[in-house]
Parts: sequence; structure tokens; C-alpha cells
Amino acid sequence: MSTTSTLDRSAIADLSARFTGALLLPGDSGYDEARRIHNGLIDKHPALIARCLGTADVVDAVKFATAHGLEIAVRGGGHNVAGKAVCDNGLMIDLSRMKGIHVDPERRTVRAQGGVTWREFNRATQLHGLASTGGVISTTGIGGLTLGGGLGWLMGMHGLALDNLLSAELVTASGDVVRASEKDNADLFWAVRGAGANFGVASWLEYRLHPVGPVTSGLVAHPFAQAREVWQFFREFTTSLPDEVSAFAGLLCAPDGSGTRLAAIIACHAGPLAEGEAALRPLKQFGSPVLDVIQPTTYEATNMMLDGAFPVGALNYWKSSFLGELSDAAIDTMITRFGTSPSAMSSLLVEHVHGAVTRVGVSETAFPHRREGYNFLVVSEWDNPGDNARNIAWARASYDAMQPHYGPGRYVNYLEKDETGDAVRAAYGPNYDRLRSLKSRYDPGNVFHLNQNIPPGS
Ligand SMILES: Cc1cc2nc3c(=O)[nH]c(=O)nc-3n(C[C@H](O)[C@H](O)[C@H](O)COP(=O)(O)OP(=O)(O)OC[C@H]3O[C@@H](n4cnc5c(N)ncnc54)[C@H](O)[C@@H]3O)c2cc1C
Repeated sequence: MSTTSTLDRSAIADLSARFTGALLLPGDSGYDEARRIHNGLIDKHPALIARCLGTADVVDAVKFATAHGLEIAVRGGGHNVAGKAVCDNGLMIDLSRMKGIHVDPERRTVRAQGGVTWREFNRATQLHGLASTGGVISTTGIGGLTLGGGLGWLMGMHGLALDNLLSAELVTASGDVVRASEKDNADLFWAVRGAGANFGVASWLEYRLHPVGPVTSGLVAHPFAQAREVWQFFREFTTSLPDEVSAFAGLLCAPDGSGTRLAAIIACHAGPLAEGEAALRPLKQFGSPVLDVIQPTTYEATNMMLDGAFPVGALNYWKSSFLGELSDAAIDTMITRFGTSPSAMSSLLVEHVHGAVTRVGVSETAFPHRREGYNFLVVSEWDNPGDNARNIAWARASYDAMQPHYGPGRYVNYLEKDETGDAVRAAYGPNYDRLRSLKSRYDPGNVFHLNQNIPPGS
């Protein structure tokens, strides 16, 4: 493996002569800013950062890395908590300046470059009253989120982000540019929808769009002492939801910095406002909320309403698994664990999955989790590096305490850096073996391995 000290300077000069973006070496102005990602716990130093502006830059970067024996990390939005977007001593292919977005309002499609975030995506598509399922937070990248799944406010109506993917332009391990769609390289397209980071760099992604907005969305919060009743009500509320509603439950602290613990339900109805008002009315009428901000609003505002809880650079350690069921015992365990949380920035979340997501077959895409149910997520977030050990230990202990309540599946986009092997297998379930064999075909040397890795194999 090459490192900065052994990297051939004349080779970098050759690359630089034709590169449109920027090549950043340690010590260069902008290098430290470029190597930083969302999770402040990740502090890695690539030998070279290739800040690409287009597909040709990505091709040159992949070829340069393979020619010089450099590991490749690919940065989309940089949100992956496991820190897969950056590496030590390798080549970081940084897509964060690739911001092209072309909306076709007639065909209701959009093509967006791999460095776009959901905020940018929504801004461009909402000009035409259109949207596609994106993440719950607007600062997440479309790249990693779509290639691994994509749970969001529109999923009940329109499926996961990856269910709306029409095609991807991929730079493969050999540096070729290929199109993956139902018609072109269909097996690659299957793999890209759930395990995309293993198969290449998606320089462009094309999505189906839907008319969306205005919407009804927001949050109701109750005192922590009522958490059990609130979450039992959430379970009942989510048993018969129309596709238009997506709803999550959270044990979290008030955003005013007081550290007051709350039990919240956060929901979005993406259909007509009158229907939204009726569908979300039970949330407003249950108990005596201390906070109720459910109201008609825009889809863009909905996608940004929780951004403040996830500041860039905060320290993060997450754990997650799909639940077998949201039983009273599971609820009680979450409440007990949240009562011991050492940080007012942390939360325990349950994401309800239903509707269009569950009408796709388990093996229609590489993403197999198509059963109606709940995903449990420990968001351990804090801001003082001196508290690292305490907050990581809390996340692990909370995750372990919930073991009796897990189903078999894990969501690949939430896996932590210390979760490999069995965890990745659980993320792909019955699709894992087919993915291994496709990996052998498209990336036999495992060039793209700084991800939730699927090793080549038959
Ligand atoms: C605050 C926060 C909120 C989140 N909310 C949601 C949510 O609502 N729904 C949800 O489903 N998930 C959510 N996630 C998880 C999210 O899906 C993953 O973190 C995802 O990996 C982020 O994608 P990214 O492009 O921002 O990240 P990155 O860290 O840049 O990339 C993640 C992985 O994808 C690869 N990758 C990224 N872009 C490309 C590309 N263009 N081509 C090839 N590989 C690429 C990277 O190499 C890496 O392996 C959230 C995460 C955070 C931190």
C-alpha cells in the first residue's frame, strides 16, 4: 500500500493536469475541512483527497487508486455514522462538490449527482411540486442513503428511496462507466438497490418523482412519565395507517437544553391537507401533550424539522435492529434504558415501516426488509470527547438490553464500524449469497471494501 510519503508526486502532477476538481494532500489548505464528516468521532487522514466535479474525475480517481495500491473511500453526504466515507492513508473520493440536479417535470424524473444532499434535492424538485422519498434529515446525502435503503417521510406512499431509483451511472472497480437500470445491467441494478456502495461509485442517480405538498407534519411530545401509555398508543395508531402517513416514536430530551426527558411521536401525512388533519388528529387528541407542533407545512420544512438535533461534528455512536414486535416488554426496556442516558442529545427511536415499502418483494431488490414493523435505533450523540466511553457504553448496553425483542434483520445504513460479518449478513438476509456472487463478477478484487462489506464469493 502507498502512503502520503511514498505517493509518487509526479503521478499526482499527471493526474492534476487533467483533473477538473481539486486534489488535496495533507497540509494543503482545505484538506482538513474535506476529511471531516458528519460524525465528529471519526478522525481519519487520507493520503490524498480527490474532490471530484464530474464522472471523468471519478474515473481518474478510481484508476489512480488501483494503479497505486491505495484503498478507496467514497464520500457522498458524509453521514454514515460508521465513518465509511473517509480512510487513513488511502484515497478519499469526495463527491461533495458534485451538485448537478436536472429535473424533468414532464416525465416526473430527476437526475442528481452523487454528492447532492436531500435538502438540495428537495429544493430543486419542489420547484415543480414534486418529490421522492428521501431521508428524515435534510443534510444526509442522497448517495449512501439511497444505495443502502432510504427510510423517510414519504415511504408509506412511495416506498424507500431505492424503490424510486430508475437508474444509476456507476464507475466500476475497473474504472468503466456503466448504466444500471431495469434494462441495462439488470443484475447490477438489483444489487445497487440496497448494496450499492459495494459495486461502484454512483456518479449520477435518476429517480422517479411524485406530486408532493403541502403536507401535514410535526411532533407531539408528552412528559417522560407517560412514555409507556404514549408508546402503547403509538403502537395502536400505527396498526391501521393509510399509506400517506409515516410515523416514528422517540424518547428524547427537550430541544431547549433543559435536559427534560420526553416521549414524542413524529409524523407526516403527505396527502391532501384535509385528510392529513383528520389522519393526524388522534395524535393531537391523545393525552395532554406538552408540545404539539403538528400543522400544515411544506415538504421541505418537514425534511428540515429535525436537522437541529443532528449538528455536524457532534460525536455519534448508533446501534439498530428491526424488532420482532413492539411489545410492552420492549417498550418498558426502552423506557428504562432512556432513563439512564448520559447525554441530553441522545434518543431512542422506533421507525414504523409500512405501506409501499412492504409491497415490494424480499428479493426484488437487494434490500430484503419488506415486512410491516418497526426499526429500533439507539442514537447516542454527545459533544464532549471526554464522554466518549460513557456514551458508547450506554449505546451498547441499551442495544444489548433489547436483544430479546429483535427480529432477524438489520438496516445496513445504521451499522456501526465495529459491526461486520454477521451484521452485514443480517442486513441482506436471503439476498446475501446472490450479492456475493455479483460482487465476484463486478468487483472481484474488492476494490470497494470501505463500506458495509460484502466479500466476493460464489
Ligand atoms: C443525522 C442522520 C440522519 C439519518 N437519517 C436517516 C433517515 O432518515 N433514513 C435513512 O434511511 N437513513 C438515515 N441515516 C443513515 C444514512 O442512510 C446513512 O448514514 C447513509 O450512509 C448516509 O449516506 P451519505 O451519502 O450521507 O453518507 P456517506 O458517509 O458519504 O456514505 C455512506 C456509504 O455510502 C457510500 N456512498 C455514498 N455516496 C456514494 C455514491 N455516490 N456512490 C457509491 N457509494 C457511495 C460511502 O462510500 C459509504 O460506504 C441518517 C444518518 C444520520 C447521521
